Amino acid sequence: MQKKIVIVGCGAAGWSAAVGARKTDRKAQIIVVEQGEPRNYRKHQ
Ligand SMILES: Cc1cc2nc3c(=O)[nH]c(=O)nc-3n(C[C@H](O)[C@H](O)[C@H](O)COP(=O)(O)OP(=O)(O)OC[C@H]3O[C@@H](n4cnc5c(N)ncnc54)[C@H](O)[C@@H]3O)c2cc1C
Repeated sequence: MQKKIVIVGCGAAGWSAAVGARKTDRKAQIIVVEQGEPRNYRKHQ
């Protein structure tokens, strides 16, 4: 059965958890819930 993983917050910890969950289970449904604006990774110039 497909696992459903819900992660609350998409800061550094949230994205790290999502990546870790995907590495652990390639078929799981992963949902990231964020209350604020979408945040992107940005490289420092
Ligand atoms: C001014 C400042 C400067 C910093 N500069 C640096 C730096 O240069 N280098 C560095 O390594 N670190 C820096 N830090 C620290 C860094 O920002 C934190 O360590 C890091 O953001 C922590 O990530 P996090 O995912 O744990 O939390 P957060 O980044 O706080 O992410 C948590 C997320 O969860 C969301 N959330 C919370 N509650 C809910 C809810 N109930 N439902 C849905 N979403 C929710 C929030 O909106 C947020 O987006 C800085 C911090 C501050 C305040």
